[in-house]
Amino acid sequence: MLGAQLTDRPQPRPATAEPARLALNEGLFVGPLDALGAVRLAGTRCHSCTEVSLGSSKRCPNCGGGDVEAIPLGTEGRLWSYTIIRHCPPGDYHDRDDFRPFGMGLVELPEGLRVLAPIRADIDALEIGMPLRFEAYSRPAGDSERVLFRFVPAAQPSAS
Ligand SMILES: [Zn+2]
Repeated sequence: MLGAQLTDRPQPRPATAEPARLALNEGLFVGPLDALGAVRLAGTRCHSCTEVSLGSSKRCPNCGGGDVEAIPLGTEGRLWSYTIIRHCPPGDYHDRDDFRPFGMGLVELPEGLRVLAPIRADIDALEIGMPLRFEAYSRPAGDSERVLFRFVPAAQPSAS
């Protein structure tokens, strides 16, 4: 009986297998998801209107043109504006039991576009114009891991 019970359990994954990592959205990142330090935000530069947009795209979201180039976006930005999220978001928010207020900012990248992202920093230290650095990180999501991104103060050492 004991053996039958054991086989009903989910099989452990082989010790050598890392959980599969999936990007938050397809086309959001460039670089290997198993080396988070090398992951960058994907961008699309339009040769017709010069607009740079977030994510890889076959058409320019600004002018609709197809003369576009996939580029990795810069990792250094500045906090353009922000708000503080003081209430735990609804639904299956991951940090429900350990919620702490956090900054959500628009970060201006060197290419001129602004990206909305959580800011991992002391909320009292947030300041418009402060230099920030892109950081990819992963979080368990069922049997796999989800790769997400945030920004941290540029002077802060890496969290990995
Ligand atoms: Zn365009």
